[in-house]
Amino acid sequence: MKHHPRAGDLALAAAVLLPLVVALPRLGWPADDAGAWLAWVGRAAGILGLAMLLLAAATSIRVPGWDRPFGGLARLWRLHHALALALAAVPLGMPVAVDVLFPPLSRGPVWLGWLAWLAMLLFLAPTFGFFGRPRYQTWKRLHLVSAAALLLALAHALPLAGEAWPWWLLGLAGLAAIAWRKLGSHRARLAYRIETVEPLARGVVELVLAPQGRRLVHEPGQFVYLAPLDKTLAAGRGEEHPYTIASAPADDRLRIGIKDLGDASHALQSVTPGSMVQVEGPYGDVFGRHPSGRHRLWLGGGIGITPFVSGARDLLARGMVEGKVLLVYLANRPQRAYYLDELEAIAERLPGFSVVAHYYLERGALDVAFLATHCPDVAEREIHLCGPPAMNAHLRRLLVGQGVPRSRIHSEVLDFL
Ligand SMILES: Cc1cc2nc3c(=O)[nH]c(=O)nc-3n(C[C@H](O)[C@H](O)[C@H](O)COP(=O)(O)OP(=O)(O)OC[C@H]3O[C@@H](n4cnc5c(N)ncnc54)[C@H](O)[C@@H]3O)c2cc1C
Repeated sequence: MKHHPRAGDLALAAAVLLPLVVALPRLGWPADDAGAWLAWVGRAAGILGLAMLLLAAATSIRVPGWDRPFGGLARLWRLHHALALALAAVPLGMPVAVDVLFPPLSRGPVWLGWLAWLAMLLFLAPTFGFFGRPRYQTWKRLHLVSAAALLLALAHALPLAGEAWPWWLLGLAGLAAIAWRKLGSHRARLAYRIETVEPLARGVVELVLAPQGRRLVHEPGQFVYLAPLDKTLAAGRGEEHPYTIASAPADDRLRIGIKDLGDASHALQSVTPGSMVQVEGPYGDVFGRHPSGRHRLWLGGGIGITPFVSGARDLLARGMVEGKVLLVYLANRPQRAYYLDELEAIAERLPGFSVVAHYYLERGALDVAFLATHCPDVAEREIHLCGPPAMNAHLRRLLVGQGVPRSRIHSEVLDFL
C-alpha cells in the first residue's frame, strides 16, 4: 500500500465532507449541555455516514484508467471498503434521542433509515470473522443488497435533510456507478483469441492472446478482467477474474500467467486454444510514477512475479534501464520459479537489470543477510513488492528495519478480499 495521499484521496475526502459543510449553518453549534452535544454528534455522524455510503457505491465502479489517481484499483477498493465499514459503525438512525429513533409508523423516512441499516447489516454480515472467509462470487452478488441499502438510505435522507442538493449529487454519482457497471461496461470489453496455452510449471500456464480488433493499450504490470468464453470449460465460463498482463506494452499479444488457485483458474489450465476471451481494462498502477531517479528493487513471490515479468519484458523491449533494477524472485523451490529462465536471459542481455532467486525451503524467509549480500544499498532504492499478504508483511517489516522509508515501499497483493 502506498502511504502518501493521492489526488483521488483528496477529492474523496472533500466529497465526504461536502454534505456536512453545507448542513453546518443549519445544524449550528450545540448548546452547552450533554443532550444537545449528543444530538449534534449523532446528526453529524448520520450525515457523514450516508455520504460515505453513497461514495462507497460510486467508488465501487471499475472504469479503465479511473483508478490511477487513487493508486490503482486495489487501493481504490480498499478506500471503498473502509468507507462502507465506517458506515456500519455509525448507527444510521442515531441523530436524535430514542423517541425519535422509534417513532410512530407514520414517520416513514425514519423507518426507511432503519431498513437501510438492516440491508447494510445483511450485506456486511458475510465479512464478519466468525462466518469464515466469504466466497468471492457470493460476496460480489451480495453487492446488490448494498444497492438496495443505498436507495433506502437516500429515501431516508432526502425528506429529512434541509438541503437536498449534496444528497442528489452523491446519490446520482452512486447510482450512475451502478448503472454503468450493469448496463454500459460491456462496451469497454475487447475481444481476444487464445493463440496458445503454454505450460510453465505444475498448475501454471501462460495464455497468449491475439487481439481480434482494437488492442489494449497498457502500462507494464497493469491487470485486466478476463472472461473466457470456451464452451468446454468445466468452470468459470463468462466469469470475470482479474489477471496481471505479463507481457510488455509493446507486445501486440497479451500474455497472462495463470496459476491454479480455485475452480475457474483450474479450468483455465486446459482452456481450448482458438477459443475467445473478453478482456476489460487496463487497471492498476503497480509501478506508479516515481521520478526519483533512484535504483529499484523488485520483490516478487509466487504468482506475484507476473507484474515484474511484464516490467522486465518492457525493459528488454525498450532496450534500456534507467539506473539499476534488481529483481528478487521469491519461490519455495527451483521447480516453482516459473519465468526464471526467461528473466535470467533478459538480465544477461540488458545491462543494469539483474535477477536473483531466493528459495524459501532452502534458506527460510528472506533476511537481512540476503539483502546485505545482494542489495547492500537497499535503503536508497525505490521498492516494489508483490506476493501473498504474509510475504508482503514480512518484507515490509524487514525493509523498514533496514532504514527504508515507508513512502518508498510500494506493495501489491493479488487478492481483493
Ligand atoms: C489485481 C489482481 C491481479 C491478479 N493477477 C493474477 C495473475 O497474473 N495470475 C494469477 O494466476 N492470478 C492472479 N490473480 C488472482 C486471480 O484473480 C485469482 O486466482 C482468481 O480470480 C481465482 O478464481 P478461482 O475461481 O480460480 O478461485 P476461487 O476459489 O474463487 O478464489 C481463489 C482466490 O482468488 C480470489 N478471487 C476469486 N475470484 C476473484 C475475482 N473475481 N476478483 C478478485 N479476486 C478473486 C478469492 O478471493 C480467493 O482468494 C490476480 C488477482 C488480482 C486481484
